[in-house]
Amino acid sequence: MNRPSAVFLSSLVAQGVLALALPAALAQTAAPAPATTPAPIIYVKAGHLFDATSDTLRDNMVLVVEGERITKVAPAAQVTIPAGATVVDLSQDWVLPGLIDCHTHLEGRADKYDPINDVKDTPFMGGFNGVVNANKTLQAGFTGVRDVGSQPFFAVDLRRAIDEGLFPGPRVVASGPAISITGGHGDMNGFAPGVENMMYSAERDYALADGPEAVRHVVRAQIKFGVDVIKVMATGGVLSQGDKPGAEQLTYEEMKMAVDEAHRTGRKVAAHAHGTQGIKDAVRAGVDSIEHGSLIDQEGIDMMKAHGTYLVADIYNDDYILGKAIEFGLPKENVDKEKMVGRLQRENFAKAVAAGVKIAFGTDAGVYPHGDNAKQFHYMVKFGMTPAGAIRAATSSAADLIDRAADEGTLEAGKFADLIAVTASPLEKIEVLEHVSFVMKGGKVYKDELGAAKP
Ligand SMILES: [Zn+2]
Repeated sequence: MNRPSAVFLSSLVAQGVLALALPAALAQTAAPAPATTPAPIIYVKAGHLFDATSDTLRDNMVLVVEGERITKVAPAAQVTIPAGATVVDLSQDWVLPGLIDCHTHLEGRADKYDPINDVKDTPFMGGFNGVVNANKTLQAGFTGVRDVGSQPFFAVDLRRAIDEGLFPGPRVVASGPAISITGGHGDMNGFAPGVENMMYSAERDYALADGPEAVRHVVRAQIKFGVDVIKVMATGGVLSQGDKPGAEQLTYEEMKMAVDEAHRTGRKVAAHAHGTQGIKDAVRAGVDSIEHGSLIDQEGIDMMKAHGTYLVADIYNDDYILGKAIEFGLPKENVDKEKMVGRLQRENFAKAVAAGVKIAFGTDAGVYPHGDNAKQFHYMVKFGMTPAGAIRAATSSAADLIDRAADEGTLEAGKFADLIAVTASPLEKIEVLEHVSFVMKGGKVYKDELGAAKP
């Protein structure tokens, strides 16, 4: 660690020198400050608007976008569009907030299921994957993601690179590596003792933790490196080796520590939890969302309702895991585990929906190909949600879960101009969201198959 520290210090010195030199350079060219150029104004005509503040559509609306934010949403009759103004004409279309997927792994690929890949790819491969996957996700209409589990600190860098405009992608709420027990769902099991956990080879202690004090350290270390959210592994998993999805892994005391440390800094905690008891202990420890939730029972459902815990259930990817993933080398152990939980997860999701548990949209993208995220809407409706409810799970509710409700999730004055359009009513046929025709993020058009933004 000594050598990187020295490099880091010298770069700080270099930045200090720059910071000192800059005001002098500015002073030499001191001139009257240029008048700030007003943000460009775009008028978005929305034939049918689902703004996600309610379950209903409003017809013939106009959204006024100034710079990256919406400044006004009003009936077309009440908005005068000046001659020569920039107009995005979606007057024949259905306009919704940009979608948010609360459970992605943008560094992951769905064509590498043989565990040998765990010791073949360097972290750079994950970075390259992320560039491609971020764009696919945005093109599919997802202007926001919560990325929950990757190498240190892929998701933080991805967030930064996209925000800096380096390449297109959704807004990213970033976690670090998911915190796991030794031998748990986040560890690399089944290899010879000499094989290191490649996922965390640089700093193994970012991810694996045994005992509350170790968890405290890992949470603090992750926060130090810029994560927005903490992900913990409450139970075993489906796609890991040598563990059982139903078995509890982190203890209640360990998860309570993670929650206390995260909440103290204003960060939320997402808990991977398939197993019945692990779900309950995670909820009792105060986590903000249960991911998967496959084997939840009635008591767990009641506890989630009482605590206001979100359920983020990835109920599409069973189709892919039991299909394509097998062709891509998924071991029999994992196929058997998916067969055990897949159907139960969908049935238990329906029970949670019926009971009124808060639902946020999350798909485990990366397990199946990025860009297919919207395929999950079909199952959310099939297993008990209304189309409007499913859309709100991916917009207003998702923004609430990821703490972005001030900026994202609804189309209202003050929010980011993150919006999508489709050519039929998603309230009548939810699957239309699998074919998003228009994508705007922060007032910038990223996809326009309709020619809506033509001058
Ligand atoms: Zn996941």
